[in-house]
Amino acid sequence: MLVKDVTDFDIKNNIPLVCSVKPRQQVAPIFISGPCTVESYEQMSITASRLKQMGINYMRGGAYKPLTFPYRNKNMYELGEVGANILHDVKMEQNINIVTEATDEHSLDVIDQVADIIQIGSRNMYNYSLLKQAANKNKPILLKRHFGASVRDWLGAAEYILDQGNGDVILCERGITAPHTHESSSRFISDIQVIPNIKKLTNLPIIFDPSHATFNRAFVPSMSYAAIAAGADGIIMESHPTPEQAAVDKLNAVEFDMVEEIKNKCENIFQIVK
Ligand code: PEP
Ligand code: MN
Repeated sequence: MLVKDVTDFDIKNNIPLVCSVKPRQQVAPIFISGPCTVESYEQMSITASRLKQMGINYMRGGAYKPLTFPYRNKNMYELGEVGANILHDVKMEQNINIVTEATDEHSLDVIDQVADIIQIGSRNMYNYSLLKQAANKNKPILLKRHFGASVRDWLGAAEYILDQGNGDVILCERGITAPHTHESSSRFISDIQVIPNIKKLTNLPIIFDPSHATFNRAFVPSMSYAAIAAGADGIIMESHPTPEQAAVDKLNAVEFDMVEEIKNKCENIFQIVK
């Protein structure tokens, strides 16, 4: 058990489960990439084959999206079950693992048919009933930090999953809100220092999402390197065959060549700081 300074949330026998996780040895950083949203079979098929070529075995893509505005139209949409079927087909054809988000109980059941890792998005970090239901699918859960959440609240949410008997939680830092930063170049702030802080408190793996933390593809490489240098166990990064035409989050998606370059550099940094 790690020395903990989160003793004010001791709930079971004074030992939070997040502080009792066994350490794991990792030889290389985890890499997950793919588009924000599933748009078509072709898009996901091209993405899967490029990722596999560069040795990335986890593809992301949302069939369900918690978008900031409620409007859905031909430029901004979520494909729901159709999207989940596309993920399923591509997974079967190319043998790639799928990371995809559940936004509510219905979508959880749908994506459970295809997900290898269930993503809980930042907005749902506080949705304790969804956390419990997702935990009971007995799959790894990628738990994104709410952009306003303290470390205590984030670990409390992880605790909800562990408390259901599912110890497979991957924490994901994805940028926090700061006042007066609501511009496309700085909508969120990359909280790099939370990474060593989390490492002090728990042995749960923590990965970093430079795409939503920056909302700017120009900042994605440097923030990825910073996160790995700070001790992150991996990166989840948005990529797209034609980033400028992405249906959602076209400002932060990167091309596949850039994913490969970032992955290679991250692997080197990981070895240096390990
Ligand atoms: C996403 O990963 O597609 C996403 C919506 O991220 P977040 O929940 O961090 O905003
Ligand atoms: Mn996105």
